[in-house]
Amino acid sequence: MSHLIRLFIFLPLISFGQSYEPKSINFDEIDLAAPMSIPLILSGNFGEMRGNHFHSGLDIKTEGVVGKKIFAIEDGYISRVRISPWGYGKAIYIDHPNGLTSLYAHLSRFPAAVDSIIYAQQKKQESHTIDEIVLTDSIFVKKGDLIAFSGNSGSSYAPHLHFEIRETVTEHALNPLLFNCYRKMISDKRPPRLSGVKFYAITPEGYMIPGKTKYFSCQEKAGKWVINNNQPIDLSSLVTENSKLGIGFHTTDKLDAANNVCGVHHTTLLKDDIQKHEQQIDYIDFEHNRFLNSHQDYWAFKQEKKNIHKHFSTIINPLEIYPQNDGKINWTEAAGNYSFTAKDVHGNSIMLQFTLTAPSNEAKPNPFNSNNRYFFPDSVNTFMKEDFQLLIEPACFYEPLQVIYRVDSSNKYLSPTYQFGEYSVPVQRKFDVRIKVPENLPEDFPLYKIGIGLISDRGYLSFKGGDYVDGWIESAIRGFGTYTLVVDTIAPVIKPLDFNEGKTITKYRTLEMAIDDNLSGVWTFKSYLNDTWVLTIYDRPKQRYIIPLDERSKPLLKKGNNTIRIFAEDGKGNEREVSYTLIY
Ligand SMILES: [Zn+2]
Repeated sequence: MSHLIRLFIFLPLISFGQSYEPKSINFDEIDLAAPMSIPLILSGNFGEMRGNHFHSGLDIKTEGVVGKKIFAIEDGYISRVRISPWGYGKAIYIDHPNGLTSLYAHLSRFPAAVDSIIYAQQKKQESHTIDEIVLTDSIFVKKGDLIAFSGNSGSSYAPHLHFEIRETVTEHALNPLLFNCYRKMISDKRPPRLSGVKFYAITPEGYMIPGKTKYFSCQEKAGKWVINNNQPIDLSSLVTENSKLGIGFHTTDKLDAANNVCGVHHTTLLKDDIQKHEQQIDYIDFEHNRFLNSHQDYWAFKQEKKNIHKHFSTIINPLEIYPQNDGKINWTEAAGNYSFTAKDVHGNSIMLQFTLTAPSNEAKPNPFNSNNRYFFPDSVNTFMKEDFQLLIEPACFYEPLQVIYRVDSSNKYLSPTYQFGEYSVPVQRKFDVRIKVPENLPEDFPLYKIGIGLISDRGYLSFKGGDYVDGWIESAIRGFGTYTLVVDTIAPVIKPLDFNEGKTITKYRTLEMAIDDNLSGVWTFKSYLNDTWVLTIYDRPKQRYIIPLDERSKPLLKKGNNTIRIFAEDGKGNEREVSYTLIY
């Protein structure tokens, strides 16, 4: 398909290339308190590149332990509470009158007043996991009030506080170190580091041309960063039909008090003293945050753990972090003197200068024009076979995808396996996958219990849901790889761990269970003590379900026989309910 047609389809569906707009917040004047009273030492900073996203806050160390006091940074009220085994874990949001929202995550527990509004929501929804905008019964806090205790909840792998500041109206996350008050509390005199420079042949749309790259590692010599021993660089081997030059920089930063690798704040690329490209990560729009996969060279990250900031972008990249975005250089204009600078938010900076020679003009064939079939991210892509179909809207993935298709009927699943693309290819959002239901199934086969499984390179199958529609199973899935049909008719299995029928639990502080599902996973779980709902917590690290016997549940216990009833449901609506008599 020609580029013109692709663009035509693409334009009405997604806005892209949004221009960089600095926030009109008075970062110098606003005076905010520290969220903790211990020295603020960072294990992660704002904008550093993580798997699939730019980090949207500061990770503050908590001396390796949980339970440090967390304080409100400004007057305000609790506007949102979230409790989840994943992501932010236990988190609260405070809206402030100055137009900012502060967010504190991975917490362990809350003071009684905060805990009671959270529990009220959990009780109302009969769920441990909640994410609620708090409209009524909110709590007003004063700057410096104790609001929580630090922890290690959710997707956290060591105790720390994840601290964010957002602009309330847009919900954009702001770089907390743009605020003068926090730059004073968190000192940094160390400049960024530059590990290497990568040159790319790219298409006019900014896509990396496979195999057409050249990497140079950097050395620091007498305070100056150099590549290629300061000799001019010849990139003739990269010149490809219908291509341009793009440059990426593997650059990171560390702050004074810790050795954790953080991200840089601001980088520029100049050619012959004219600025070609500039990046500055001041704020994050969560709608676009996953486009990190387009901003960085994702293969270099996946295969070599290198965080390479590309100083050019594809036409589907909507990130608002490029004050100047002119990094696609014509080969005929590539020769010249370049300089690259990287700066942290405290103003420490480094510079690299290098020279490119004029490349010879013999352009090599462009693989995108070969017989291999590619899907381009800026098109609508469809793949239609008799028993396997895909419909992929624009901006679902980031780089041209070579069409790889393999069918294997010699397996244990309900249908053949269909491999399309590679499991390791990052995907921005879901697209439609359809697999035809085999015709030889018995008449009473539970068609509505069939779903699509996506099998990883290691052979692990994850259940991706799906609906039965006219002989097909359809599901929206965020991922390429090997798809197949599986059927889930088996309800979760509930297994008590520290109690059983007739157990005396007078001295117990918790009741613990394992709940396992064979395929689609445990979607809902609830417990009732003498027919009244009681909180059941999913402890993800221990993979246990825990009913605390505390001041909330204990008053429900009667002397003598009590009944605990536990309910679980999987992703295909298979339900299990068990009950036990417990003596108190
Ligand atoms: Zn964090």
